[in-house]
Amino acid sequence: MRFERIVLASNNKGKLRELEQLLAGHEVEVVPQREFDIPDAVENGLSFVENAIIKARHAAALSGLPAIADDSGLEVDALNGEPGIHSARFAGEHGDDTANNRKLLEALATVPEEERTARFQCLMVFMRHAKDPTPVICQGTWEGRILRKPRGENGFGYDPLFWVPGENASAAELPADIKNAQSHRGQALRELLVRLSALGV
Ligand code: IMP
Repeated sequence: MRFERIVLASNNKGKLRELEQLLAGHEVEVVPQREFDIPDAVENGLSFVENAIIKARHAAALSGLPAIADDSGLEVDALNGEPGIHSARFAGEHGDDTANNRKLLEALATVPEEERTARFQCLMVFMRHAKDPTPVICQGTWEGRILRKPRGENGFGYDPLFWVPGENASAAELPADIKNAQSHRGQALRELLVRLSALGV
C-alpha cells in the first residue's frame, strides 16, 4: 500500500475490535479516530453508503490522513428494512445494545418463524482525502433470522439475536474468527483490500 497510515472512522468498540482483527498482519497502520480526538460525525445521510462517506470525509478532514469508514446495520424484512441506518439508535440512545435488542424483540413479538428473515449490511468506504471525488465503495451482506431470545456472549450489537443458519448458532455464539470470515464487515473489508491493492493505493 502507498499509504502508511489510515484513520479508521469509528468510535464503536465492537466494530473497531473486528476491523483491527481483520487488518492484523497487514502492512498498513490503521489508527482509530479517537487517537486524534475526532468526535463522531453527524450521520444525517439516508442510506448506509451516504453515512459511510460522511464518516470517512469527517475523519479524513480532521486527521489529514486517508480514511476507512464502515456504516452498517440490520435490515429486518418484517419491519420493512428497519432498523437499517437507525440500527445504532433504534431504541433512542446511540449505542444502547440492550435496549435496541429489547425493542427488536418487542417489534417482532407476533411475527412467525418463516417471516423473521433479516440481514446485516456493511458499506465500507475508503477516501484518499476529505475531497476525494471517487471514494472506493464496497458492500457485504450476511443473511440470517431473528431469534426469539438472545443467545451467546461474543460480538456486539444485535449479534445475540441474529441466527446464522449455516452455523446453527447465533452470531454471538461464533468465535471471532468464524464471524469475521462470514460477516458483512469481513466481506466488505476483504473486498476493499483487494480493490485498494488493484488500484495501487
Ligand atoms: P453505525 O456505527 O452507525 O454503522 O451503526 C452500526 C450499528 O449496527 C451497531 O451499533 C449495531 O447496532 C449494528 N451492527 C452493525 N454491525 C453489527 C454486527 O456485526 N453485529 C451486531 N450488530 C451490528
